[in-house]
Amino acid sequence: MRTYLIPIIVVLFFYSCKKDAIPAKITEVIKPIEIFEYGFKLNDFEVINDTIKTGESFGVIMDRHHVLYPKINKIASSIKDTFDVRRVRSGKPYTILASKDSLTKAQVFIYKHNKIDATIINFKDSTINAYTYKKPIQTVEKKIMGVVNSNFSVTMDSLGLKHNLTNEVADIYAWTLDFFKLQKGDTFKLIYEEKFINDTTFAGYGKIKAAVFNHKGKDLYAYRYVADSIKKIPEYFDDEAGLLRRQFLKSPIKFQYRISSRYNLRRRIKLYGNRVRAHKGTDFAAKRGTPIMSTANGTVVESARRGGNGNYVKVKHNSTYTTQYLHMKRRNVKKGDFVQQGDIIGWVGMTGNTSGPHVCYRFWKNGRQVDPFKQKLPSAKPMDEAIKPDYFEYIKPLKDKLDTISLEENNQENLIEEEHLIANN
Ligand SMILES: [Zn+2]
Repeated sequence: MRTYLIPIIVVLFFYSCKKDAIPAKITEVIKPIEIFEYGFKLNDFEVINDTIKTGESFGVIMDRHHVLYPKINKIASSIKDTFDVRRVRSGKPYTILASKDSLTKAQVFIYKHNKIDATIINFKDSTINAYTYKKPIQTVEKKIMGVVNSNFSVTMDSLGLKHNLTNEVADIYAWTLDFFKLQKGDTFKLIYEEKFINDTTFAGYGKIKAAVFNHKGKDLYAYRYVADSIKKIPEYFDDEAGLLRRQFLKSPIKFQYRISSRYNLRRRIKLYGNRVRAHKGTDFAAKRGTPIMSTANGTVVESARRGGNGNYVKVKHNSTYTTQYLHMKRRNVKKGDFVQQGDIIGWVGMTGNTSGPHVCYRFWKNGRQVDPFKQKLPSAKPMDEAIKPDYFEYIKPLKDKLDTISLEENNQENLIEEEHLIANN
């Protein structure tokens, strides 16, 4: 028997708001929609969507969908190099494409690793094959503006933006802005990408192309740009081509110093009976009274005299890094002070446990002391002069775009969404 595709004639009437307007009549022929997914025309199959239950195996699922055991074994063995069917995990979604006849026999098994990646096992014909499949992703550029009322992440939440974007923005500005010091009324604008599967399913954020924070009336721009043609690592630069990430100074002492002891977890000290006693700092020996500098911008979180540390200062640079400076003769800052890279925070001395004048420099990453010389710290290599004209050319349209983003635009977007919701109901 042949099936006929019957054209559906849909007649739509549109009435305009004006009372005296004549109703318009539109006639349109709509063909049955062909739905493609995972490279298959779904119209040709019975589509079964399900989730792997606890204790369920590939064999059990196949058996339930009318595949005989000899065939199941044949599938499992012939695809084992691509996909081990014993690896199916409970909770993972899958789709079975079955024959459209009364047998509804499984012909394709689509195992979904995540929203994007799947393994497809096709056993429709005599040749069985398995392969991985990636759903095509659409990238959409978005613009948004926010006003900080209490704090940045609350504002981002209220705009419907997720935490990973919030964290990424905070990371870009980690060396420029103190997010705890943002003031009510500070604004920000972002140009960023969102990724979608099938135009509708959100699949995460792409690049943050440009941003600007207006903090205390000052515009702080950030543009993503690849300035290093060899490493090709994108970095964020300001409107004057300055790198937003700052590097730590190599040493808290400017010129005359000697590293007398490095970070060493296995250092043996005679004083302690030749026992292994970790030295988690780096000692910079210098003349008493030599100025000690903060190695990066930050807030003084401790400034005190205590035990073996003697006079010391601890500076928090951002949520990741903190540095500490021990055995000072005298301190030059107090708790709560904001210090900039290179600011003098004290002078070399011999307070606390020390056998000679030096500063013990301690470097903390996420609350743990690490060797500053072994860290992959952001490189602060200034942009090559030769690249700058290209850079300024590149950021010009982005700056224009940033400058025209307004709160009204955000509202317009919201309104469109509301209408969409009503239409769906
Ligand atoms: Zn030390």
